[in-house]
Amino acid sequence: MDIISSKKFNYIVCPKCRKKLSVSGNTLKCADGHSFDIASCGYVNLLPPHKTGDVPGDSKEMVRARRDFLSKGYYKPLADKLYEIIKGYKPEIIADIGCGEGYYTSGMGAFGAHVMGFDISKYALMYAAKRDKASDYCTANLHDIPLADNTADMAVCCFCAHDEHEFARILKENGKLITVLPAKRHLFGLKEILYDKPYENTEENEAMEYFCLVEEDRVEYTVDIDCTDDIMNLFSMTPYFWKTSKDGVDRLKAMSHLNTELGFVIRTYVKR
Ligand SMILES: [Zn+2]
Repeated sequence: MDIISSKKFNYIVCPKCRKKLSVSGNTLKCADGHSFDIASCGYVNLLPPHKTGDVPGDSKEMVRARRDFLSKGYYKPLADKLYEIIKGYKPEIIADIGCGEGYYTSGMGAFGAHVMGFDISKYALMYAAKRDKASDYCTANLHDIPLADNTADMAVCCFCAHDEHEFARILKENGKLITVLPAKRHLFGLKEILYDKPYENTEENEAMEYFCLVEEDRVEYTVDIDCTDDIMNLFSMTPYFWKTSKDGVDRLKAMSHLNTELGFVIRTYVKR
C-alpha cells in the first residue's frame, strides 16, 4: 500500500516491547525485530493470534449491519455534534478507542488532527481502513492501547467500555476525553416493540478518578425508519440483540416502519 503521509503510524508503539514502530514496506517494525503486517486495505493487526482461532470483537455480520445502518445518516446529528465539540478543542492527535467501522472516526481529521482508530474487531477495521485512508487503524486490546504515555491530545470513546486509567496514560497533560452514552429515552420506540415493560436508560455520570467533567452536551431527536432491513440492522447494533425473547424479535421483524427517539449524552473531561 502507499504510505500517503510521513505521519502514518508514527505514534503507534510495539504491543510486545513498547518500542517505537517504523514503517518498512508493508510492515511495521520495532528495534527488537517484532513486525506487524499492514493489511492490503490499510489496517494493522497488533493483537496476538487468538488461541482458539476465534476472531475477537464484533463479527462480520454485526459490522456490516452497523455500517449499513449508519451509512443512511440516522446518527449524523450525533456525528455533527461530536465534530463541533472536537473542533473547539483543536486537538492535534486524536485516539478513537473502540472506533468500530470508523463512522465517527473518518470525520475527526477534518480540522487537521492526526487520527488513530483502535478496535478489537478486524472486520470493523477492514471497513474503516477502506473508507478512510488518512487515519491510522489498528486492532488492539482497548485496555492496552499501543501508544506511549502522554501521546494524544484527545481520546474519544463512543458507546465503548471505559478504562480511564489507560485513557489517562495515553493522554497528554490537560488532554481531553470525550465519551458518548445513550440518553434516557434512546431507542425507546424500539424497546416498546421488543418488551412489554420497556425501561428508560440510566444516565449515570461515570465516576472518574483521573478526569474532571468540563462539558456535557445532549443530542436528542426522533427518526422514522421506513424499511425492515434498517430496523433489523439497528436492532443488531444494540445490546437488546442479545437479550430479547423470540416473540419480541418476531414482532420487530414484522415491522416495516419504526418511529423512535434517539438520544445521546456527550461528556467532555479533562485529565487531572
Ligand atoms: Zn517490539
